[in-house]
Amino acid sequence: MIDQVSKAFFHGLARSGGLKQLASRYGMRRPGSFARRFIAGETIEEAIEAARIIQASGLMLTLDQLGESVATTAEADAATRVYLSVIDRIVAAGIERNVSLKLTQLGLSIDRATCVDNLRRILDGATTHSFFVRVDMEDSPVTQVTLDIFDTMWQQGYRNVGIVLQSYLPRSVEDAKRLNQMGARVRLVKGAYKEPRNVAYQQKSDVDAAFVEITKLLLADGTYPAIATHDPAMITATKQFAAERGITPDRYEFQMLYGIRRDLQAQLMAQGYRVRVYVPFGREWFPYFMRRLGERPANIGFVVRGILRDR
Ligand SMILES: Cc1cc2nc3c(=O)[nH]c(=O)nc-3n(C[C@H](O)[C@H](O)[C@H](O)COP(=O)(O)OP(=O)(O)OC[C@H]3O[C@@H](n4cnc5c(N)ncnc54)[C@H](O)[C@@H]3O)c2cc1C
Repeated sequence: MIDQVSKAFFHGLARSGGLKQLASRYGMRRPGSFARRFIAGETIEEAIEAARIIQASGLMLTLDQLGESVATTAEADAATRVYLSVIDRIVAAGIERNVSLKLTQLGLSIDRATCVDNLRRILDGATTHSFFVRVDMEDSPVTQVTLDIFDTMWQQGYRNVGIVLQSYLPRSVEDAKRLNQMGARVRLVKGAYKEPRNVAYQQKSDVDAAFVEITKLLLADGTYPAIATHDPAMITATKQFAAERGITPDRYEFQMLYGIRRDLQAQLMAQGYRVRVYVPFGREWFPYFMRRLGERPANIGFVVRGILRDR
């Protein structure tokens, strides 16, 4: 229950223009500013620098140029061109070729055909350079269309692309079975958005039980699934099921967010598991940052301390 109240509170705050202005002013200003805990930087150079450190430590990574819900086709086109240049910069930097993106960044909320065209442009660029592209999952009004667009790309023969399922959506069990049959790569998450009770589980225990159920489906019948969580109970359940079924650690990976549970990332890696870090960067970091606060209200403490210190 507290989870839902806190999510609702922070999702409400995320829409506040004044707060956005305040956060934008102080959040990334200095190397120690508060938003830098979760965001690698505002520029691709800063992201590459963070990526090099992560890669040198033995962890894998995926880069996410932050942005969502663009309002015009011109913005969607600009975001697509930025992604293509990010691909070039990653190639030049010699870091791992793996990116994550959101379809509303490519124009999904404006026009589906534009979004499909933009995604195809990125996948073509990604294919040329052997990249893997993960399509993040956003809130429930776009769940079905996101899956439909993913299917379209799959039918058109793209295989360097994966999708995300959220365990807070009861529908995800059936989606997982279907994606397993296709041979598609799935990242499983609990789900980060504030969703109504007729669409998503509201109790943590239900979300967790579904997470374990879907993890088992993906491990048993899926294609190189990514189990994306910082929750030790979910990680233990994953390891246990994989061990019982003789599924070796090279057949799946754990994923965690930049700046969250670095200790656990290192510990899993030392135990021989694959761990990928999701590295977000870019000027449009505010909504992403607010979702991270909503997951753990205790984080608000370091934000307030950061603002007071930086003023
Ligand atoms: C690689 C990756 C990609 C993701 N992609 C998507 C996506 O495409 N769509 C989507 O809806 N969601 C996405 N998420 C977010 C996800 O849905 C959850 O909101 C988020 O991972 C928190 O859930 P949890 O599994 O860590 O479990 P929780 O039960 O929320 O947390 C378990 C523990 O993790 C730690 N923790 C979790 N969050 C934080 C935080 N913000 N700050 C500090 N500690 C924290 C705490 O120790 C907490 O007790 C992604 C998450 C990851 C790791």
